[in-house]
Amino acid sequence: MRLAGRVALVTGASSGIGRAIALRFAAEGAKVIVNYLGGPDGDPKAASRKADAEAVVAACGGPDRAIAIAADVSVREQVEALVQGGVAAFGRLDIAVNNAGIEIKKPFLEVTDHEWDLVIAVNLRGPFLVTQTAVRQMMAQEPLPDMEARGKIVNISSTHEDIPFPQYTAYCASKGGVRMLTRNLAIELSPMKININSVAPGAIATPINQSVLQDPQETKNALSEIPWGRFGKPEEVAGMVVWLASPEADYVSGSTFYQDGALALQVTQY
Ligand code: NAP
Repeated sequence: MRLAGRVALVTGASSGIGRAIALRFAAEGAKVIVNYLGGPDGDPKAASRKADAEAVVAACGGPDRAIAIAADVSVREQVEALVQGGVAAFGRLDIAVNNAGIEIKKPFLEVTDHEWDLVIAVNLRGPFLVTQTAVRQMMAQEPLPDMEARGKIVNISSTHEDIPFPQYTAYCASKGGVRMLTRNLAIELSPMKININSVAPGAIATPINQSVLQDPQETKNALSEIPWGRFGKPEEVAGMVVWLASPEADYVSGSTFYQDGALALQVTQY
């Protein structure tokens, strides 16, 4: 149990990679704040997100081990309430994982202001708000006696923090921003003994890739670009995140760890 005694926040944890990270954190002994995107009362999508998040809480071991809290990561007041709610439930915050993310596929000339702002707000403003709020909490609380690091931040970036992906310009710009957020903050946060790193997944089998996974030709095309010959699994990303959140990675900060079956080495753009 590498994370016993820690409290960890995972954004966008009701599905895909975030869900796998939450479950793995719980298995490693952490108490988990399961963030999900809520929505207005009566919205069926909001109800199903809540049900999914509550299922993750149950799979983590129930209310003694995890709590589901709705918040839009791009809205400061909601992020502050998220962290406050988690701390009220479990007393502290030691690990924050910026996992929530969205993508919109569109030729550049058709992208609207709203679409651009939405992707940047969730994928880049979200990690800014969550990291700032989490670090303030980490610095305000007593350090754990068995931790050199006062806290750990892990960003779920993408191979597209570096590799171009035509028709996903806002997504690539947001993930490129996460890369520099990680590198800059490694310098500013190291004197506070807070690590920040990114994991850059390649093609992982999750709902975000549903359209590719459901189309045999698109699946074949995607697989042809992955030297390892298969999609990654959310659980594999979770394994990397646990290591980065553990004391074994205390001397690691400001790096991006690719987890892509060697895709990024072969592909210079999609
Ligand atoms: P996913 O299942 O769609 O997970 C994304 C999660 O973020 C969803 O639960 C989504 O909720 C949530 N979310 C969206 N907007 C939010 C907001 N404003 N506030 C809070 N939560 C919000 O896809 P995934 O593949 O696990 O993606 C997780 C992360 O991995 C993303 O940052 C993505 O860019 C990154 N990534 C994924 C891959 C891949 O191949 N899967 C590759 C590279 C990077 P709803 O679904 O309810 O809207």
